[in-house]
Amino acid sequence: MDYSELRREMVRTQLLPRGITDRRVIDAMLKVPRHLFVGEALRHRAYDDCALPIGEGQTISQPYMVAVMTELLELDGDERVLEIGTGSGYQAAVLAELAREVFTIERIEDIAKRAEALLRDLGYDNVYVFVGDGTKGLPDYAPFDRILITAGTPEIPEVLKKQLNDGGIIVAPVGSKYSQQLFRLIKKGHSFKTEYHTPCVFVPLIGEYGWKE
Ligand code: SAM
Repeated sequence: MDYSELRREMVRTQLLPRGITDRRVIDAMLKVPRHLFVGEALRHRAYDDCALPIGEGQTISQPYMVAVMTELLELDGDERVLEIGTGSGYQAAVLAELAREVFTIERIEDIAKRAEALLRDLGYDNVYVFVGDGTKGLPDYAPFDRILITAGTPEIPEVLKKQLNDGGIIVAPVGSKYSQQLFRLIKKGHSFKTEYHTPCVFVPLIGEYGWKE
């Protein structure tokens, strides 16, 4: 299968018509081999316009969702980014193409270890994978310039807002357990400007400041 042609097709049919315009985001989506982040049996569907299962009831997000969340982060290459919900590691790889360092945290150890090994094999030496409850952030490594939550949350935990630099951006799917909307928060001193973007459906963020199991 010609995976680079499938990536070009994905960009042409799923990202450009829905308004993704950031050239750096498009180039990262053209480059990262998404098919390696799903199990072999699903490889032929890796570039389909949907989320796919990765085991343990979790998912790799739809390509468009990865692109739009990444675009909203407005990365210029020098940022330290915190991602909550490593999953397959695909979003972390896209972020690693566009930012200086990516700290990514996953609550399910097996999933985290698999993602860590793949990211290492692919040469992403600016991604650091942690196992734990990402709703608490990573206080030992804070502050971050950007925070991306890739699981659905009832609200954005205050503790994460505190781990963001002034001028920083948080992007997260906020809402119920079954449907959410992408929120973008921009930190200005001690206050936040909130914007509301596309509706979406993510698996729940489970943890102390998210949903209970
Ligand atoms: N970013 C991922 C990717 O590129 O494949 C997709 C993430 S998947 C939609 C959501 C992930 O968040 C799941 O792997 C889930 O186990 C994880 N998760 C849920 N609650 C979490 C928490 N409190 N801390 C860290 N990870 C969490």
